[in-house]
Amino acid sequence: MSLQDPNSTTSATQGLVDFHCHLDLYPDLDSAIAECEQRGIYTLAVTTTPAAWSRNHELASTTKHVRAALGLHPQLVQERSSEIGLWESLLPEAKYVGEIGLDAGPRFYKSLELQIEIFRRILSACADAGGKILSVHSVRSAGKVIDLLERHLPADRGRAVLHWFTGSVSEARRAVSAGCYFSVNRMMLDRPNSRSVVESLPLERLLTETDGPFTAFGDRPSRPADVGTTVDELAGALGRRAADVRTLVSENLRRLLRDVGETS
Ligand code: MN
Repeated sequence: MSLQDPNSTTSATQGLVDFHCHLDLYPDLDSAIAECEQRGIYTLAVTTTPAAWSRNHELASTTKHVRAALGLHPQLVQERSSEIGLWESLLPEAKYVGEIGLDAGPRFYKSLELQIEIFRRILSACADAGGKILSVHSVRSAGKVIDLLERHLPADRGRAVLHWFTGSVSEARRAVSAGCYFSVNRMMLDRPNSRSVVESLPLERLLTETDGPFTAFGDRPSRPADVGTTVDELAGALGRRAADVRTLVSENLRRLLRDVGETS
């Protein structure tokens, strides 16, 4: 071992958390997973359809830092609601669930009733199974998502992480009472409204994410290694040192795992 780290970029990213990234939407899933593993970034590889689960899970399960999540994205529910049976049959293999949730934006509003039905089935299945961690989409539907979580996923039956939360401060407070965590990305910190919502969140519920490749870093899609800049921005918003926020986020991830009964 040399005294100087030959790859300082790797140690710079060691232990960071990207709790919502679509690794299978990058050109090469194998190398995207390998990069997270090599850089030591705890990455949740969310999926958008249950058909994507097996390959993501197979590749991630041989790593220390990457885990796959079993998803059925609300924006795809209109065309793919019939895949809920496949999703349910795969749930026993999955510790993590996502991307799931609701999208009441203009493009997806017409399927909202069907989305609610699917989301309710997903939450009930997770509550029955116990011990799951969910990465949840809630575009223009934060109140409804929180209603459904309160009703169908008691905090002792599983935990939701609200990804890219864009609800109000009072909705955030309700979500906190329901036991939710929040994965925060750069876009949320760039916008004054959502930045002030982030600043209102309890420190012990904060995680970080990129939502790559759906967010940009300069002129290219974000990658998990960019989540270090999210930590820096978040530290700025909270008036804390970046190193402290980095430690905080990794402690929060550990607590989240303990919340669902993981002992490691
Ligand atoms: Mn996403």
